[in-house]
Amino acid sequence: MLILFGFGWLLPAGADVTQVRIVGDGAPTRITIWTDVPETADALLTEGPGERKVVLLLAQNGYSAAGEGVGGVKAWSMEAGQLEFQLDRPMAITRMLRLPPTGKEQAYRVILDLDTISAARYTIAARRDTKKLAKLETEFAKARSDAMQQLAGGRDTGRKAARGSKAGKHVVVIDPGHGGKDPGALAVTGGKEKEITLKAAMSLKAQLERTGRYTVKLTRETDRYIALEDRVTMAREWGAELFISLHADAAASKSVSGASVYTISARGETRIDREADKNDWKIAIEDGSPEEVSGILEDLVKRETKTRSAEFAELLLPELEKAGPVLRGTHRNAGFYVLLAPDVPAVLLELGFLTNADDAKRLLSDKGRQASVNAIATAIEAYFDQQDLRLASN
Ligand SMILES: [Zn+2]
Repeated sequence: MLILFGFGWLLPAGADVTQVRIVGDGAPTRITIWTDVPETADALLTEGPGERKVVLLLAQNGYSAAGEGVGGVKAWSMEAGQLEFQLDRPMAITRMLRLPPTGKEQAYRVILDLDTISAARYTIAARRDTKKLAKLETEFAKARSDAMQQLAGGRDTGRKAARGSKAGKHVVVIDPGHGGKDPGALAVTGGKEKEITLKAAMSLKAQLERTGRYTVKLTRETDRYIALEDRVTMAREWGAELFISLHADAAASKSVSGASVYTISARGETRIDREADKNDWKIAIEDGSPEEVSGILEDLVKRETKTRSAEFAELLLPELEKAGPVLRGTHRNAGFYVLLAPDVPAVLLELGFLTNADDAKRLLSDKGRQASVNAIATAIEAYFDQQDLRLASN
């Protein structure tokens, strides 16, 4: 009879691997890895003095975790994107399954079934896998540093990007929401969202340019209609390092007020690949990277993009709070189309509610709008200070 007992470990929310569970009595042992995006990594066997491990190279970086094992697994650990399971006996991977989310399970799962084999057979398998792992690690390290440089503004690789940027300047793309036939929300006091977003975007552009530190592009500088996918395509072609879409909200209740910031939601994320294919938003990965590595890299770039979007949102919020009212629980996630570029950190900012008289008055006045613009500019400065520091220390 197979005695099952489990050990679960919950990792920080938003991380790549959200849970690891190991069950089994030693002979058959099952490892289940829950991830928030599909994982394509191979499971490789390695052998060192007194040490046998199952290793997976994952497309995540930046956090560590560890846990005890059960059955044929002594312990597991996660470090710098490498997930390792220490075995207490020679085992073979008898089955590897990758499962998409189902009704009950919200996450993707990788299931590894292990069973005992002879030490001799293990050694043969480990020799083959160790070579493969060493090669992957080298390629992965190099490609990862290239990809990070590129996202951080090393504009000389890959995408045509570079066109928009002058030497050393950070490229910021501001997207005034709506325009032309699409007025957006209407203010209770009279006035349209499309006018407010354009005015705010123009002053933000002027303010940022005065610092001499940025190349600032607007998706529109006049009252004209632009399709959502074209806004994203423009941002990518200009090589945006940060994309900020400006909007003003409307609510059923007149009392709802305050600014709010959105970054991509998990549901929105599932649309990224589809839209990227449709619109030809290709992530620039160096030619010649082996397929296995470029898959991991694309995931890594997407993940890093999401992290940076969240970082900017977190810098923006306290500044908005100084400038005026903000909506409670205001860093939100949504599947807004303009947030779908796989490789441009992006936020959508709702400056306030035009259905609220105070917000409408504030956003229609030059002074009120300027307070919001100052808040955004300060957050942008802080964000690129952070990015420059990171790049310098790499
Ligand atoms: Zn809007």
